[in-house]
Amino acid sequence: MELLIERARVADFFGTFYEQGYVLVSGGRIEAVGEGTPPEAPGARRLDAAGRLLTPGLVNAHAHLYSSLARGMPLAEFSPTSFREILEQLWWKLDRVLNLEEVYWSAMVGGLQHLRSGVTALFDHHASPSAIEGSLSAIKRAVVDELGLRADLCYEVTDRGGKAERDAGIRENVEFAKGLSRDGKTSAHMGLHASFTLSDESLELAAREAEPLGLPFHIHLAEGKEDPVDALQRYGLRTAERLDHFGILMEGSLLAHGIQLSQAELDLLAARPASVIHNPRSNMNNAVGAAQVEAMLSRGVKVGIGTDGFGSDVIGELLTARLLAHHTSGSPTTMGDEALLALLRHNYSLAEQTFGVKLGRIAPGYAADLVLWDYDPPTPLSAGSLLSHVLFAAISEGLRPVAVIVAGEARLWDGVVQGLEEREVLAKAREVAKGLWAKL
Ligand SMILES: [Zn+2]
Repeated sequence: MELLIERARVADFFGTFYEQGYVLVSGGRIEAVGEGTPPEAPGARRLDAAGRLLTPGLVNAHAHLYSSLARGMPLAEFSPTSFREILEQLWWKLDRVLNLEEVYWSAMVGGLQHLRSGVTALFDHHASPSAIEGSLSAIKRAVVDELGLRADLCYEVTDRGGKAERDAGIRENVEFAKGLSRDGKTSAHMGLHASFTLSDESLELAAREAEPLGLPFHIHLAEGKEDPVDALQRYGLRTAERLDHFGILMEGSLLAHGIQLSQAELDLLAARPASVIHNPRSNMNNAVGAAQVEAMLSRGVKVGIGTDGFGSDVIGELLTARLLAHHTSGSPTTMGDEALLALLRHNYSLAEQTFGVKLGRIAPGYAADLVLWDYDPPTPLSAGSLLSHVLFAAISEGLRPVAVIVAGEARLWDGVVQGLEEREVLAKAREVAKGLWAKL
């Protein structure tokens, strides 16, 4: 089906700009883009943007949809004094009780939030140790089949529940990856929780199973101090060095956080094709420190940006990446536009690689993953100033999409989620959340 968006301020982060632009979409891709009068497109669904801002959809490179039903959850005892205690007192309690129905509804709620934040592709890192088998398919059903987003999924393999659970986690990753239809909407990684919850035997096993499928890894790297302390004490290695021994730092691998890293580890990461994913708001919330993003970028480490389940607002995350760098360095010039654009660009390139389509520009041949924002700029918007506009919108009035298109299909239209009754979904989710909380 064809779609024509007209009278939009069309902009991407890398130079495309039309003040009174149009975009013609056909077969899931951008067919034509330009200024002024659009081409004839009889039969196309039309959207008059009335001067609002049209950009490419955003990519979240590290999400945890399973955490979505924790909003407002009462916590009986929560007084963590370390990162490990945050996991023990909150996330490992929550993920332990999730059943498949709750996994599905968590994904539905989290997916909806991503859609309403203008995210059209996400990389999820999932854990539900009491409901491992079928969990990735349940997430896919909600996020890809029903909400229409692109999603790369994996299960966080860990030793913390014993060998049977570990093996079930590996199997879930393998079975899900084998069943993929390669439709450009769904993809997979081999998920691993973190070095400090995985023995050598487990890393070996996961690597062996991932290899024939060509699966890269999605793992937390040196988020808290627990990771380097454990790797040094038990194996005499720094965390990234340990992962490197198992081939985990390969092309396409996602290493979330990368905070507690030595200079030698930064050099090692620069010499490997894996990507570090920066999640500044989660890091601040968990009081785990700040990743040395500029030091990574200057060495040539590939860095992307994610939310780590702490919301779904990628623009807010970019803004925080800048604020955090200013705050920790004492310099107001750190994490300038070039650095933030590098993170954005890398997110698009990760998504291009995993989904096999062109993403991140508004140009013919690129996938039609588009967001029309309810944004009428108060100052001139021009080629190259989109980043500044969206960051300041995030600081002041916020940015909300009125339409979201994924692979040429309208998933949000005129502010209304397409293909499902959002109010009914939220009502059902509240009911499921109540049952989930009662188990804790
Ligand atoms: Zn995470």
